Amino acid sequence: MSLYEKLTPPTNGEKITRDKDGNLIVPDKPIIPYIAGDGIGPEVVDAMRAVVDAAVKTTYNSKKEIIWFEIFAGEKARDIYAADFTEKQIEDMDSKDVRDLFLPKDTLKVITDYIVAIKGPLTTPIGGGFRSLNVAIRQLLDLYSCVRPVSHIKGVPAPVKTPEKVNMVIFRENIEDVYSGIEFEPESKDAKKLIKFLNDELGTKIIMESGIGIKPMSWANTSRLVRMAIKYAIDKGYDSVTLVHKGNIMKFTEGKFKDWGYKLAAQEFSDIVISEDEMWAKHDGKLPKGKILIKDRIADSMFQQILLRPDEYGVLALPNLNGDYISDALAAQVGGLGFAPGANIGDEAAVFEATHGTAPKHAGKNKVNPGSVIFSAVMMLDYMGWTEACDIIKTAIEKTVLQKKVTYDIARQLKDVTPIGTSNFADAIIENM
Ligand code: NAD
Repeated sequence: MSLYEKLTPPTNGEKITRDKDGNLIVPDKPIIPYIAGDGIGPEVVDAMRAVVDAAVKTTYNSKKEIIWFEIFAGEKARDIYAADFTEKQIEDMDSKDVRDLFLPKDTLKVITDYIVAIKGPLTTPIGGGFRSLNVAIRQLLDLYSCVRPVSHIKGVPAPVKTPEKVNMVIFRENIEDVYSGIEFEPESKDAKKLIKFLNDELGTKIIMESGIGIKPMSWANTSRLVRMAIKYAIDKGYDSVTLVHKGNIMKFTEGKFKDWGYKLAAQEFSDIVISEDEMWAKHDGKLPKGKILIKDRIADSMFQQILLRPDEYGVLALPNLNGDYISDALAAQVGGLGFAPGANIGDEAAVFEATHGTAPKHAGKNKVNPGSVIFSAVMMLDYMGWTEACDIIKTAIEKTVLQKKVTYDIARQLKDVTPIGTSNFADAIIENM
């Protein structure tokens, strides 16, 4: 009997596995599951696969090869997994069963079994009774860290004078904070019940007709996020990790994020990490060689810092909401979301993804920029340890952009440049390898 309800894994590749310390063991022909996604998803994902296949082939002389395994989420999943039900049966389903049609159990199981996956954007079904498939994927697979590297690609127009000074990697907490989904509609029974409890029992003075959202933040989720951020800084040679928070106002959530971040650093990385206080007290304000500076910044000041002193920051660790804001602000600073990659990473699995949405008005027109999902694939290859293939893709993209062979979103910011299509951009990158 097949392991999956409607999926048959390829037989010409092997699974990525882990050793006893949790390190990845990547075979020469790893099977990588992918979700094409909705809207512009299929075209940008096709372009990404073509670029990755060419880079792997060129780099490893056909010794290595990715074996792609299509799995489904979003509208394509619904077409396949709802086929066994009548419209009436679907109408009568509860929201969890509807979600299972858009995000089938097969898909989640394959990602867990194969450890590393990549996806295009997904439409959030309207009236599905759940917020977003992307949030569901992160929460159901416990992908607790949203990782966004941000740096400038030569030739991409940017709104600041020195975009090349940005070289930051954002680790945004993905599970809790005000995004945990615990909120109650104004004037609902539950909101009133909660407000009454808070006012009667805890002495607050909340207006009865208010909407209420809950902001849980825990040592458990903060510590594993900061651990991942510090390990990344060590592995990739960054010399600072900055805890970004709003702890001056929200002392027991954001403030704790900061305290717990320092505590984790002291408990587990005291041989390599030093604080700003210690650096000034013992080293005249200079970072000793081989050490990583752990510092913290208030979120509003950090928005100034990324513009005024970007080169003083490397790895950033943030709670969910601040992380969301700063990810897009930094992406804009180096020229927009068109080339911004992302990944959601947990201890069991990692899903790399385009950071933009499904852009329905451009779907099927061979028009949009596949750069975001291609750079997400570069992150994925790096995560797999295939770094030589990453380098070849990055260099080829830079060369292609400098030749002014770009899609419409970049072309319209340059003078007298005729845009090329999604697949043509991929072809140009491949030619430049
Ligand atoms: P969007 O990212 O789809 O579009 C915002 C703007 O950016 C549009 O003008 C669009 O044309 C442009 N754009 C997006 N991707 C582009 C690309 N690759 N190249 C050039 N231009 C590009 O955001 P939206 O309109 O707010 O959302 C549309 C749908 O996407 C919604 O259903 C939303 O839920 C979903 N969404 C999904 C994800 C995800 O899957 N990670 C993220 C954001 C939004």
